Order: sequence, then C-alpha cells, then structure tokens
Amino acid sequence: MTVTDPIRHNWAGNQQFSAVRCIRPQSLAEAQAVIADTSRIRPIGTAHSFSPLADTSQVQLSLAGLPREIEIEADSNEVWVSAAVTYGDLAPVLMEHGRALHNLASLPHISVAGACATGTHGSGDRLGNLATAVTGMRLIRADGRLVEIAGAELAAEVVALGCLGAVTHLRLATERFYEVAQVVFDDLPRARLVDSLDEIFGAATSVSVFTTWDESERCQVWLKQRCDVTSSWPQTSWLGARQRTTPAHPLPDHDPINCTAQLGEPGPWFDRLPHFQMAFTPSSGDEIQAEYLLPRDMASQAIQAIEGIRAIVHPILHATEIRSVAADDLWLSPNYERPTIGIHFTWHKTNAVYDVLPIIDELLAPLGARPHWGKVTTFTPEMIVRGYPRFDQFAKRVRELDPEGKFSNSMTDALMGAAMRDRVT
Ligand SMILES: Cc1cc2nc3c(=O)[nH]c(=O)nc-3n(C[C@H](O)[C@H](O)[C@H](O)COP(=O)(O)OP(=O)(O)OC[C@H]3O[C@@H](n4cnc5c(N)ncnc54)[C@H](O)[C@@H]3O)c2cc1C
Repeated sequence: MTVTDPIRHNWAGNQQFSAVRCIRPQSLAEAQAVIADTSRIRPIGTAHSFSPLADTSQVQLSLAGLPREIEIEADSNEVWVSAAVTYGDLAPVLMEHGRALHNLASLPHISVAGACATGTHGSGDRLGNLATAVTGMRLIRADGRLVEIAGAELAAEVVALGCLGAVTHLRLATERFYEVAQVVFDDLPRARLVDSLDEIFGAATSVSVFTTWDESERCQVWLKQRCDVTSSWPQTSWLGARQRTTPAHPLPDHDPINCTAQLGEPGPWFDRLPHFQMAFTPSSGDEIQAEYLLPRDMASQAIQAIEGIRAIVHPILHATEIRSVAADDLWLSPNYERPTIGIHFTWHKTNAVYDVLPIIDELLAPLGARPHWGKVTTFTPEMIVRGYPRFDQFAKRVRELDPEGKFSNSMTDALMGAAMRDRVT
C-alpha cells in the first residue's frame, strides 16, 4: 500500500482539496482493509470534476495502484475494466478486439469509474450517458465487504457520486466496431436552433451545437454519423447554415490541427465521437465548466432565456456546447426518465462566473434544469435534490450501507441533509 501526500486540487484548480493524505492500495485485499479501518475516506478518479465532489476531509482513496485490467468476455463481448482505466486506455483495446462503446464524452482522459459515478455524457438523441453502458460492477462497501452488483440494483448504484462504496471494476456493454464520419456546419442562426431543435439533433447519430452567444446570433453544428447507418447528410446549405469545406475548431479562431477529422472522412468511433484526438489534451485547465440538463421539451425556452442575458454571458465565456442525451432509469442520472438537452458553458476562470450562474439558475430552474454533478453550480442542495424523484430512496440506501458517513463529504452531506429536511417538511 502506498501512502502519499494528497492530490491538492482538481484538474482545473478551481477546487482546493482538504484531504490529509492519499492512499493507493496495490491489491483488492489492501483496499478492503483500508476502507474498513478508516473513518472518513473517499474514492477519487482523475480529479477532473469542477464540483467539490471528489474532495474529503480525511483520506483520498486512489484505485490507480490496483492491477490495470481490461478483459473482454468471450461469450457476451462485455468488457470488465478496473476502476482507474480511462476511456483513452480502453478504446484502443476494444478496437483491437473489433468492439466499440456506444458513445464517449469530450475528453478521453477521465476514469471510467469517475465518469459513470457522475452520469457523464456525450451527445446523441438515442444515446444514453456513459453510465448506461454499465451492466455490472464490483465495489467495496464501508465495512470492507467486496460485493458484485448486476440487474435491477444497478439503477441505484451506478450514478452514486462515490457514496455507496469504492468501485473496483465495471462491466460495460460493447458493440461491434463501427466507423463514424463527421461534418461541420457554420452560421446556423440561433433562431433556427430554437425553431428546429428536433430536426437539428435528429440529423445525425451525435450532434453538438456550439455558440458563444455573441451578437452574430450564429452557431456551429457538428454532425457525427455512424457509417453503418443508412442516411445522408443534410445538403451543403441547411437551415440557413453552410457546410464547411475546411476543418473547424469548436472555438472561433482556434487551429483545428488537434481536432478529429471532419469533411465526412470515415474513421474509428473513438476518433470521431470526441471533438479532439485521443492523444491531445484539449485545454490547459484555464476554465470553469457548468452544465444544465433540461427536459427536452423545455430546451427551446431555455435557449431563448440565455439569449435574453447574452450580454452578461458572452464576455466571460469561451463557448457553450448544446448536446442531447437519451432518457435512462438510473436514479441519480441527470437524464433520469427524460430525454435531455444539456446546455453547457465553458467559462473563463473568473469569479464573475459565480455572479452570472444564479441569474441562469433563476431562468432555468423553473424549466426543470438539473445541474451536472461534476461541474460547478449555484443551485442550493434543496433545489438539486428536488430535481430527482428517487433521491430520497438513494439517501436511505446510503444511510443503510454507510451509516457512519465514511464515504461522505461536505457536498454529499449537504445533499443528504436537504433530502432529510424535504421529508420532514
Ligand atoms: C476538460 C473536461 C471535459 C469534460 N467533458 C465532459 C463531457 O464531455 N461530458 C460530461 O458529461 N462531463 C464532462 N466533464 C466532467 C467529467 O466527465 C466528470 O467530472 C467526471 O466525473 C470526471 O471523472 P474523474 O475520473 O475525474 O472523477 P473525479 O472527479 O475524480 O470524481 C468524480 C466522482 O466520482 C467518484 N468516483 C471516482 N472514482 C470512483 C470509484 N472508483 N468508485 C466510486 N466512486 C468513484 C468520486 O468519489 C466523485 O464523487 C469534463 C471535465 C473536464 C475537466
């Protein structure tokens, strides 16, 4: 077992961690023993969350010291991965075996366990978030027991914010290897986005719309189409937008050299679904991210609401990305039981963000927005908890499985407290 200084801050540096040390067990038995013997401990992945979710006041538990495993089951083609494996580690191995995942987020450097614990997503009307690929998991409970979960129980356990135990392995559904081609359209009027949302997000397997909310009132649309799906691209001129004939970067005036290939050139799923190539880290951490996950039928209204305050949003924003995510049945998934449109903001790293977020909250909370678990939010814990019909049941499960609050931190304590107060009032 290795005991080190704690990881001091998250990837972006907007969260300073208060842990006193980090423990990296080298075996499952060591991990079980340290969890059983420690009063406050919290699993950490690659610390990419912008929210304080990965913090703890005592011991960080990194599972990166456990043997790295990626094992494809011969009969089912499902893949078991150890918790610290990243999507960047996993994708080439799946490709070697002629397999693929259903989707990816924008960044391959995050751990599979950390991504699934927060309901991390890519885009696609018919594609669930990354946690929906989970068909089994092994985790260590607060008392040190190693348990295996499958079937109906997964709904409560997959998106669990690190509160139900330390996940050591995940079993993921895979599909036959597929190729994807992508094209980019410039200058879609934002008014058309509002009017033609279903047409736009239905135009390809995975669609992302970028805008800076500038006065041009234009968006850029990235369409990614599976090559095994028979349908054609929209015409070169579509809804007032025009198809690019040179590669694009999601941010205006940035060099597209590290972006995945466009112009309709087919390539492996993992080299098209993210906007940036696997070997490239798309930004330096000089940013803060926030995202509001809205019921799809509220999305046009939400976009119009942001349009109304674009004068305060645009000056402190790198870019907004709008994506769609299919509904699922995972209790704490931001996509729980509703098709979703995510309105994401990559902000400059400035405190002014925290003045603008409450204004956006006021506009989007009444539309049913749920904030992304891994990004910053100024929603109160009560507002967050009320967005999840099964939060109360989740809190009950946490109390049963971790009665001493071993895996909790200040953020999860606040959520559990809000759930409790909600029951009493
Ligand atoms: C540049 C950048 C791009 C991003 N792009 C996207 C995107 O496209 N889509 C999107 O939805 N999100 C995106 N995110 C957010 C990111 O996907 C989430 O914050 C994700 O949780 C990060 O994974 P991680 O491994 O760093 O987890 P951490 O931040 O380390 O931890 C997150 C949570 O997972 C829990 N956890 C971690 N490991 C385990 C384990 N083994 N067992 C139990 N619980 C565990 C932690 O306790 C914590 O609660 C992005 C973040 C960054 C920095």
